[in-house]
Order: sequence, then structure tokens, then C-alpha cells
Amino acid sequence: MINSHGTNLSPVVTQLTDELSKLPGIGPKTAQRLTYFLIRMPENNALALSEAIKAIKEKIKFCSICHNITEQEICELCSNPSRDQSRICVVEEPLDVMALERTRSFNGVYHVIHGVISPLNGIGPEDLKIQSLIKRVTEESIEELILAMNPNLEGEATSMYIHNLTSDIVAKITRPARGLPAGGDLEYADEITLSRALEGRQEF
Ligand SMILES: [Zn+2]
Repeated sequence: MINSHGTNLSPVVTQLTDELSKLPGIGPKTAQRLTYFLIRMPENNALALSEAIKAIKEKIKFCSICHNITEQEICELCSNPSRDQSRICVVEEPLDVMALERTRSFNGVYHVIHGVISPLNGIGPEDLKIQSLIKRVTEESIEELILAMNPNLEGEATSMYIHNLTSDIVAKITRPARGLPAGGDLEYADEITLSRALEGRQEF
């Protein structure tokens, strides 16, 4: 943080501001404000925050099958025998899994690709967990693949890409019914809308 004379007040303050500004949606101004907020915060609260960050980095991993977040090598959904392992719902983010699980209308499993194909942002298929999806549908007997990307251009393009690579391997490829708010994110859709979209899914 620079004072009016242009000198650095404290390297640790600057360091925290720099780290905070790496978070999505946090610009330099907000990062400074958050830094001052943390300086004034009671010590135990601030330390609880830093401990929580440390704990997620130490404990949280990605499931080796579906890439959802988990504390185990294989997540509870992939290792649950009462889930239909032959139906895979492909989603962009772990938050989408949580949103779909809240509806309680899907008893299959998931595959989290961690993003969408986005040439503008330099993200190609090789940056996503698509290859492991292809391997999964090739090696296991999959009855249905549900492509539940967000209903926007990038989501559509990503669905199309996956469809083209899997349509010869999987008999049934579907996607949630229209009715999801166009351009909206899956994770923000309410449970009833999401549940209806999923139950009324249509062949791709
Ligand atoms: Zn899993």
C-alpha cells in the first residue's frame, strides 16, 4: 500500500492486498478495503479465516472419477452403490452438482469438466476434464449422458463438442429441458425450475 509520499507503508500489507486482488471480482480498490477490514478484525476471526483457507487446501481434493470436490480419493456419489452409475450428468462446476443434488430428482452420477470451452479466454478442450469423460464412457457401460452446461453460447458450444465425441459411444445423450433462464447459471436456478428441467430432459 502506497502512502501520499509514494513510499511503501508495509510489505505485509502490500502482500495481502496483492493476494486478495487475485480473487475473482476483486479489483485493487476492493482488495485494499478488505485488507484494512482484516487489519481491524479481531485476531481470532482473522486467524479462523486463514485456518479455513489452509484446511481446504490440505483436505479438499478432486474425485479421481468425476472430478467433483471431496475429502476422499473417490467421492461419496461415485462410491455410493445406490446411485445409478450408468447415468452421467456432465456439468461445468462443483457448484452445479450441489444445485442439482438439492433438487433430489437425479439418482445418477456426475462428471465435472471444470469450465467451458472459451477461445476468447484461451480455454480449449484440453484444459477441461473432457478426455477423462471420453475414457469413462468408453470403458464403462453408460446408458445415458446428460449434458447440463449453462444455457449460453459457450455452454452450447461445449455441449456440442462433447456430443460429437460421444454420440457413437453412448446410446442416449440428453440435455435438460428448455425453461432454464437463458444465459443464466445453473447454480442460480431455483430448485423447482431445475428439477422440472431435469425431469423433462430431451434427446440432444
Ligand atoms: Zn466422484
